[in-house]
Amino acid sequence: MSGNTARIQAIQDISKRTPYQTSMPEPLSKIWASDVFNLVKMEEALSKNAYKSMKNAVETGAPLEPAVADVVAAAMKEWAIGKGVKFFSHIFYPMTNVTAEKHDGFIATKPGGNAISEFTGSLLIKGEPDGSSFPNGSLRMTNAARGYTAWDPTSPAYIMQTDNGATLMIPSVFMSWTGEALDKKIPLLRSNSAMNKAAQKVLSLMGETEISNVSSSCGAEQEYFLIDTHFANARPDLLLAGRTLFGAAPAKGQQFDDHYFGAIPARVQVFMQDFEDKLYKLGIPAKTHHNEVAPGQFEIAPYFESANVAADHQQLMMTIMQSTAKKHGFHCLLHEKPFAGLNGSGKHVNWSIGNTTQGNLLDPGNTPDKNLNFMLFCGAVIRGVHLYGPLLRAVIASASNDHRLGANEAPPAILSVYLGDQLEGVFNDIKDGKVTASIDGGDMDLGLSQILSFKRDPGDRNRTSPFAFTGNRFEFRAVGSSQSVSGPLVAMNTMLADSLNWIADKLKVELDAGKNLADGVLSVLKEIMSLHGNVIFGGDGYSPEWHKMAVEERGLKNIPTTADALLALREESVIDLFKNTGVLSPVELESRFEVYSEQYILSIGVEADLVVDLATTRIYPASMKYLSELSETTTSMADLKIKLGGAIIEALASETDNMMAAVKKLKEAKAKHDFDSAEAHMKYCADTIRALMDEVRTHADMLESIVADDLWPLPKYQEMLFIK
Ligand code: ADP
Ligand code: MG
Repeated sequence: MSGNTARIQAIQDISKRTPYQTSMPEPLSKIWASDVFNLVKMEEALSKNAYKSMKNAVETGAPLEPAVADVVAAAMKEWAIGKGVKFFSHIFYPMTNVTAEKHDGFIATKPGGNAISEFTGSLLIKGEPDGSSFPNGSLRMTNAARGYTAWDPTSPAYIMQTDNGATLMIPSVFMSWTGEALDKKIPLLRSNSAMNKAAQKVLSLMGETEISNVSSSCGAEQEYFLIDTHFANARPDLLLAGRTLFGAAPAKGQQFDDHYFGAIPARVQVFMQDFEDKLYKLGIPAKTHHNEVAPGQFEIAPYFESANVAADHQQLMMTIMQSTAKKHGFHCLLHEKPFAGLNGSGKHVNWSIGNTTQGNLLDPGNTPDKNLNFMLFCGAVIRGVHLYGPLLRAVIASASNDHRLGANEAPPAILSVYLGDQLEGVFNDIKDGKVTASIDGGDMDLGLSQILSFKRDPGDRNRTSPFAFTGNRFEFRAVGSSQSVSGPLVAMNTMLADSLNWIADKLKVELDAGKNLADGVLSVLKEIMSLHGNVIFGGDGYSPEWHKMAVEERGLKNIPTTADALLALREESVIDLFKNTGVLSPVELESRFEVYSEQYILSIGVEADLVVDLATTRIYPASMKYLSELSETTTSMADLKIKLGGAIIEALASETDNMMAAVKKLKEAKAKHDFDSAEAHMKYCADTIRALMDEVRTHADMLESIVADDLWPLPKYQEMLFIK
């Protein structure tokens, strides 16, 4: 028996690998934001007035004078070419989870053969990529492909260093020539401003006199897997679909719980340091890193920043993570479920809102009056998650995240809110009328002293909740590891804007009727609790009891697949939500439904083709080869045949047969194209195609445990996960 598979080759090559050499680490003070054109650099480079306008634009989103843009463009160019940069690019964030860029040279030629570098305010402000190849739903005809990128001054420009040179990157929005949002940044900026407007109303009703701009913050914890490049190269499924479509469970997986927070393997440590230095140069505040639950799985979390900048940094981080991993001989997997049977990867989106005058509005703080603001904003979130749970489910829906949600190691596909015992108790008391305001006017003494001692890090953290309060922020834990954080942030900001508008109206009625503030707030909170308290759940979110209770008693929705989840984007209440807050017009929202459903169908299509291909061209030949080798040996020892190889031959033959029969069914199913609607097509992918892919896999994985090891063509789980 002899095998000469790509897999065997990969194992041999890994042992010959030379370790990646990194340069000497440099002090943080030297590298921090060295490649970012931030306010500090602008202050040095700009006139006092220009700097002031820029600072104002960055901090409040105020518009910039074209003349200032010219000055900023000139300074930005000088700074960049001083660092050897010759090209610039608007970077933008199409409706997919990736980023897009179009590079242009600073060069302008002059008569007589000279060349100079040129960069004006108008070049900075507006770009025009040939946008026809970006997904747009039905927002643009292909023959009216014009799309514009426009500079977002609130997210700093930076230099992207690659082996092929350096480019000045300018974070931008992307829109159609009729002004519709074709990207993920425009809705995020709009949602932030809708939330600000609504928060201003509530805060002024609360008697606040000085109220600065309210905005959202985000800190995202990112999980990922690293496997050796040699293995990835021998697994087309990992390269093209990001996950293993085949693979028998290893003898050792994560059952020993010995990976979580364990010592980081040396080779990974070197990668992390190199990766984090790159982030620091780009002004991305990498803060924590550790091993995750599954072998080969890790996490990185940067410190939180304003939602818009955090979203740009998140995208940049995913790009840098993958390119740096490659240098270190790793393949970085951001897929939500690269390995069946092992924990998947998520992205916990920590989200809070606040401003410089009132501080973090989701922080209970140390004084009763802070508590009052806090209780109202927290109530607004509770209402939002209850009313728009299906929307929150829709914005985290993807073919890949479907494998993770509800899989007993990640939050269920039911949206509920975890508050912690203490806070849940306070809200329930309000609901039951047990908390009353003091009538004698001790102003704002809500009798809420019980939450003064609120613990910032409640000991009873609930890992099973998709949406948990964690002391001074909410943590949306059901977001997928490969997703942009923008969708979730847009949904959270927008639902909050809606709740705050509702609260402002209610509170105004109470106050106009002569109620004191504390009583008014209490009665609004009481109403929120009686209408929406059902969404609060502190128990085990993984348990079957919860799945039953949530749906049958609480009226919450369990939405397991993207095919069902995306339909929320077409619900009347969601269309109204986005329209009324000005975040997305109905046409813009519909285009998102179209793009996301198409992506879902395409991803499953690619996977199905890969399953057919790998089963037919790799697994079947390996099985047949083993079968013939076995038959040869056994026939030559005819009388021993039954004893020695009979059972194996039989299993081998029947599993091979069954696998190929399933492949045939899958191929036929895949050929169907006549669907009435995207919904029908999605449903078909979710129910029929996926089930057939699983059927092929079941037989293929059985074969993996039968076929001689040296003939098996695809790197096995234990190799990918444990050989570092
Ligand atoms: P854990 O794993 O315990 O949840 P981590 O320290 O890994 O905590 O990550 C917490 C994340 O939450 C970090 O990105 C942190 O910056 C972020 N965060 C902390 N406070 C806030 C806040 N007020 N608003 C938004 N994000 C926050
Ligand atoms: Mg967390």
